[in-house]
Parts: sequence; structure tokens; C-alpha cells
Amino acid sequence: MLACDILIIGGGPAGSTAAILLAEKGHRVVVLEKARHPRFHIGESLLPANLPLLERLGVTDKVRAIGMEKWGAEFISHWDGRGQEFLFANAWDKSLPMAYQVRRSEFDEILVRRAAAQGAEVVEGCRARDVEFLDDERVRVHAEHDDGRTQTWEAAQLIDASGRDTFLGNRLGIKRRNEKHNSAAMYAHFTGALRNCGRQEGNISIYWFDHGWLWFIPLADGATSVGAVVWPPYMKTRDVPVRDFFLSTIALCPPLAERLRAASLASDVEATGNYSYACERSSGSNFLMIGDAYAFIDPVFSTGVMLAMSSGAAAAETADICRREPARKALALKSFDRLMRHGPKQFSWFIYRVTNPTMRELFLSPRNVLRMEEALLSVLAGDVSGRTSTRASLLLFKGLYYVISIANLGRTLRAMRGRAANIRAVESERMTG
Ligand SMILES: Cc1cc2nc3c(=O)[nH]c(=O)nc-3n(C[C@H](O)[C@H](O)[C@H](O)COP(=O)(O)OP(=O)(O)OC[C@H]3O[C@@H](n4cnc5c(N)ncnc54)[C@H](O)[C@@H]3O)c2cc1C
Repeated sequence: MLACDILIIGGGPAGSTAAILLAEKGHRVVVLEKARHPRFHIGESLLPANLPLLERLGVTDKVRAIGMEKWGAEFISHWDGRGQEFLFANAWDKSLPMAYQVRRSEFDEILVRRAAAQGAEVVEGCRARDVEFLDDERVRVHAEHDDGRTQTWEAAQLIDASGRDTFLGNRLGIKRRNEKHNSAAMYAHFTGALRNCGRQEGNISIYWFDHGWLWFIPLADGATSVGAVVWPPYMKTRDVPVRDFFLSTIALCPPLAERLRAASLASDVEATGNYSYACERSSGSNFLMIGDAYAFIDPVFSTGVMLAMSSGAAAAETADICRREPARKALALKSFDRLMRHGPKQFSWFIYRVTNPTMRELFLSPRNVLRMEEALLSVLAGDVSGRTSTRASLLLFKGLYYVISIANLGRTLRAMRGRAANIRAVESERMTG
């Protein structure tokens, strides 16, 4: 049996962030990672709100070296070709005007190697298989190496950062499907895609189309990540291989298809089934759940990595308090849980409505009346700090949304009925090219 203070399952952005900060605070940290870095992962578009975290972790220069500068996001309607660019420099907080698009294999490797450099023991090719909670101070994790060897670790605390595998959520039976949202995705890398010029080259482009939305994410090495996030009933209509279905889905969106006219596929096409969920709670007396291991929301606003890393930082803070000042433990766990719920909740209001015609109208014709556009841009930049001034402008934006929806009641009711049909649960499936 091996011993450590804090055992982390998963060496993605959430787990590595927690590992770096806890190792820096002097804890004996072990990270179990079932894969070996560098490994492929989807989720390549970062947000300005990621940058202070990168700085705090000491990886800014390394990420700059592999990243494509992302100064803005553009939303394009395939029905009439109208588009709108949002520049992060115009957000409420002007201090974070840009972010990066990254190949996750490179980005995640930078983070996990940094964790090892700061003193965490990173065990790759080692999958956590089972967990036993012995008492409030001891948890055991049984793991299996690639070569079939098994090993057990005993720790004072466990951090679950296992991503969409949701290691603890499944074992504790506390993972719940999001009843208010449901989508599925297909994605691949292309070479030879038509890019924007100058500073706009690194923009993420989001295309609305009949079955959901599509992304276009330019990477620094010339490849472009393209994905379709669609309603599950549309995905269920697939009767051809995923590759063909993906290409025919892109063809349904002419402005995007045009940018890919001379491009060729540079990877397999991956697909993932229904995927919005949250766990009922984010912690127990000796465990914390972070990143996708706790909750997953639709990626339309590129929030996943930022939420994963922020929760990793919060978990490091919380685990440190639990270890050093047990008297503050209950309070620390309570505020950790509040923080874990806050981020997904802030974005969800927009996610549930982003394909709605009223929201499209507001995105395509933004007005900075009473700083509503700046507040909206803060959300797009991942700034959900909830400062009072932004909150007021966001409330006005939401109010305007409801007023326009009521003024166009017929259209609103049709959109609501369509959405209700689209988010019905359909049998979940996992497909690969
Ligand atoms: C289609 C799609 C598009 C997306 N686009 C974006 C985007 O543009 N921008 C963005 O910010 N986010 C995006 N996301 C979300 C993003 O991918 C995730 O939110 C992010 O990767 C979460 O980080 P994490 O560290 O919590 O989990 P992960 O990055 O998934 O890391 C979890 C790690 O745990 C390991 N692991 C799992 N189980 C075990 C086990 N039992 N034992 C040991 N190791 C284990 C895995 O191998 C993995 O390395 C997207 C997601 C999807 C599905």
C-alpha cells in the first residue's frame, strides 16, 4: 500500500491545476492518469479568463509558444449569412483582451509536466478502478497499470478530476442528466481551411444552423478544428458512417462549407452522445469533484477548460484548508460547493437560449445601451465573477430578451416547442469514425 496526502484521479486541466497548487503548498500529491501524455482531447478554445490562471500556474510562456492568439469570437447565421464579431477587448474588464486556441494534447501535457516539476508524483498509464472511504481522514483507491499490475493508494483526501468518465459520480450514484439541455457532437481536424486575415485569424467562429451549431477553431500549426453540436434526434437520423454524416452535416451550413471547400480531413471523425449532466454535490468529508467530473455544460461558449481549471484552483484551496485547519473544514466545503454551482449556472441561462431566434437577433445586433454589450462580452470572455455593475447590465440584457420574446409570441412559442422536442432524452450512444 502506498500513502500520500492527496490523491488526484485524472491529469487533465482540472487535475493538473489542483496538483500544481497543492504541491506548491507542500502536500504530498499523487496524480493517477489512465492515458499517457501527450494524448488527444477535444476542447481547444480557451477564454480570456484562463489567462490569470495560466500565470498563477507558471505556464504562460509555454502556452503562448503553442497557442494561436484568439482576440474574439464571431457568430454567424447560416440562414442569411449575417455575422457579428465580438472582441474581448470591448468586454467590461479591458485587462484581458485575448485568449488562445490550443491543441489539447500539447496544452494538457504542459500542465501535467508542470505538476510533476512542482513536486507532484504523476503516474501515467494507471487507471483508478475502485474507491473505499474508510473514515473522514482516510480514503483508499485501487488502481490498475497498463501492464495489468494493481496498486492501492491511501490518502487523506481524494480529488476526482476524471473528466466525463465521472469516476465518483458513477460510483456514488449522484450523476444526473441535465433535463433542460441535451446535445451531441461530431468533430475532426482539417487542413487547408480558409482562415480570416490578420488578428481575426484566431477567432473562433460559431455557425447557427437548423440542427444546432458548428464551430471553426484555427490552431497554431495550420490545422483547424471543426465540430457540430446537434440535437440528439438529428443525430439519431444517421444511417451512414459518422465520417459521411459529419461531412453532410457541414454541407447543410453553406458559409462554413465554403471555408472548407479546399480543405481535407486530417483526423478521424469522433462523435459523442448526449452529454450535459451535473452531480448532486461536489464534495464529501474527504473528497472533492472538479471539472467535468462534477458537471458538463454545452461547449458553445468554450467554458469547459476555464471551469475545470478554476475548480482545480478552488479545490487546492479547499483541500489545503481541510488539511491544515480542520475547524474551518465545514465552511470551506460549503463555499467550494457554492463556487462549483455558480459557474455552470451563469452560463446555462445563455446556453439554453443560444439557438433561440430572439437570442440570435440580440447577438447579431448588439447594442451597448447601458453597457449591455460589454456585460455580454464579459460572459463570452468567461468572466462570471458576478461584480455588481456587470450583474445589473446582464439583468437588463435578460429583461430585453424576455420583452422581445413576448413581443414575438408566435415565434417564441414555436421555438419553445421545437426545443422541447429536441432535448427529449434519446438513447445515449458513443460512436467513433
Ligand atoms: C464536443 C466538445 C467540445 C468542447 N469544446 C471546448 C472548447 O472549445 N473549449 C473549452 O474550454 N472546453 C471545451 N469542451 C470541454 C472540455 O473538453 C472539458 O470541459 C475539459 O477538458 C475538462 O477538463 P477536466 O480536467 O475536467 O477533464 P479532462 O480534460 O477530460 O481530463 C480528465 C482526465 O482524467 C483521466 N481519467 C479518466 N478516468 C480516469 C481513471 N479512472 N483513472 C485515471 N485517469 C482517468 C482522463 O484520461 C483525462 O486525461 C468541449 C467538450 C466537448 C465534448
